[in-house]
Amino acid sequence: MRAIILHGPRRITLEDVPVPAIAADEVLVKIAVATTCGTDLKVYEQGGHPRMLRPPTPFGHEWSGTLAAVGSRVRGFREGMRVVANNSAPCLQCFYCRRQLFNLCEDLLFVNGAFAEYLVLPARLVQTNLLVVPEGLPLALACLTEPLACVLHCLDQVTLHPGDTVVINGDGPHGLLLAAVAKRRGARVILCGRAPQRLALAPRFGADAVVNYAAVPDQAAAVRALTEGQRGADVAIEAVGRPQVWEATAAMVRKGGQVVFYGGCPPHTRACFDTQALHYDQLTLRGVFHNTPAHVRQALALLGEADFPAAALLTHTLPLSELATAFALMASRQALKVALQP
Ligand SMILES: [Zn+2]
Ligand SMILES: [Zn+2]
Repeated sequence: MRAIILHGPRRITLEDVPVPAIAADEVLVKIAVATTCGTDLKVYEQGGHPRMLRPPTPFGHEWSGTLAAVGSRVRGFREGMRVVANNSAPCLQCFYCRRQLFNLCEDLLFVNGAFAEYLVLPARLVQTNLLVVPEGLPLALACLTEPLACVLHCLDQVTLHPGDTVVINGDGPHGLLLAAVAKRRGARVILCGRAPQRLALAPRFGADAVVNYAAVPDQAAAVRALTEGQRGADVAIEAVGRPQVWEATAAMVRKGGQVVFYGGCPPHTRACFDTQALHYDQLTLRGVFHNTPAHVRQALALLGEADFPAAALLTHTLPLSELATAFALMASRQALKVALQP
């Protein structure tokens, strides 16, 4: 089979490798579509991932496909089924899993290698996070299950009342999905970003107002100006992953407001916060990470709803051999997500 192998920073090759064999409790997926995500771009540019991927390695983690082989001990799945899976599976046994904090699992198993013709799913992933794609849902759209599950998990960490103002910092796929889900939950949504073509899409994802922070001197002040009495937003979410944006996000909420850090920053970075504001304005600051099996299921169901705008994230379709082109389109912000077909 053909598979993309990462050899180092910006060095990928399309190689012929053997189709992997499966154990009795595993399945083999024939990939139909794999979508790119910001993490893949980071992995490509850095030539690996400090926790997950050492070159030479296959990569890619958002995909959908059909079952090409099903191990003899696997229940509930058969060859030919259209499936999608999360990119990780919790152990269900550790301290955190026993407390239902599955995203914090001490032994979270990550599966990579979707930029290929076939992918083996280990037993634990088959048991916890492999799902059948509902009839009528295009496989390309089903690829968005994992990122949308992270978004649903994020918004479940905040208290949201109808009419509350939610500001989202970040105009990438996650920022746009956060906007769409916050809107569905009754919020008034402000989206901040700096790519005009992405901000132009924001209203389709439910944004009531947009702020191009490249065009304003003070991003937090620009957001406050859009709230009643310049009071600030009820909820502010960071979906970029830069310490400066973490700091700006914390300056956007009203007294008693909630600040959520969704975008992961580079290792060893720090952010600074105004202690007076945290204390006297009684702010809540919280980090969120990844998703849980329940959110993975909710995400797949939501993708099937006709009025949910996720399809607009799939701006380009390319053959797998054009992965480097896909990353160039993402880096220049022309593409939100590229759907790759092996
Ligand atoms: Zn992703
Ligand atoms: Zn666990």
